[in-house]
Amino acid sequence: MPELPEVETVRRGLEPLVVGRRVVDAWGHPSAKFAAARDAVGLGVEAVGRRGKYLLVDLDDGRQLVVHLGMTGQLRLRPGPEVDPYVRAWWALDDGAVLELRDVRRFGRVAVVPAGEWGALPTLAAQGPEPWDPALDDGGLWRNLRRSRAAVKTQLLSQRPIAGIGNIYADEALWRAGIHPARRTVTRAQAARLLTELRTVLEQGIANGGTTLRDYRTVDGGEGRNQLELGCYGRAGLPCLRCGTELRRIVLDARGTTLCPTCQPRR
Ligand SMILES: [Zn+2]
Repeated sequence: MPELPEVETVRRGLEPLVVGRRVVDAWGHPSAKFAAARDAVGLGVEAVGRRGKYLLVDLDDGRQLVVHLGMTGQLRLRPGPEVDPYVRAWWALDDGAVLELRDVRRFGRVAVVPAGEWGALPTLAAQGPEPWDPALDDGGLWRNLRRSRAAVKTQLLSQRPIAGIGNIYADEALWRAGIHPARRTVTRAQAARLLTELRTVLEQGIANGGTTLRDYRTVDGGEGRNQLELGCYGRAGLPCLRCGTELRRIVLDARGTTLCPTCQPRR
């Protein structure tokens, strides 16, 4: 599933190609998740932003085209239309290019809403701060984590204490911070360390153009490179790169989770 670094990589790829362009035609699969694509017809693109894992395309009538890539979504800019049964929405631009949302499993979502009014998108509306928001410093992440007694990894995946984290970057950051993913409380010092490691792994992911395990692609159809840099995620059964203990896979709240039993003690 695309996480913050993958969506940010897509955002950076799209921005120079679509800002200043006008949407001259559009189509959305007639399900409630994609039909709104047509609402952007006739409008100019002013900016391409991001909030957590959501892309926010500012339109020149004060609304935003919101795109969530779900599990398998790919946004690609093509020189012209192409027959592909997995394209769920497309937007033709005034320079002849076509922006396509390809989504095999259809967990993605398209909406056009007044800018910043996200009530129709509760997951977006309820997100915590962006990872680099100063509100998370000086104990901010620790206070956010204290609002729930769920496991720390499950809380990260909820997007509420902090936005943009999914399975890969959660496992990486918790391993680097030495925190067991099932812990229900963390100390203020542990939360500070976790914030540092989250920022590090997200920045590394962005610098590497995202992590491609299966479906994720950049705007030009290329693969990210961050899968080559992962220290924990996907390495169950292999020795921990820090201590040599065999990394273990557990299932935590229905999510596969990799951890080091030595570096990440349960208590
Ligand atoms: Zn270890």
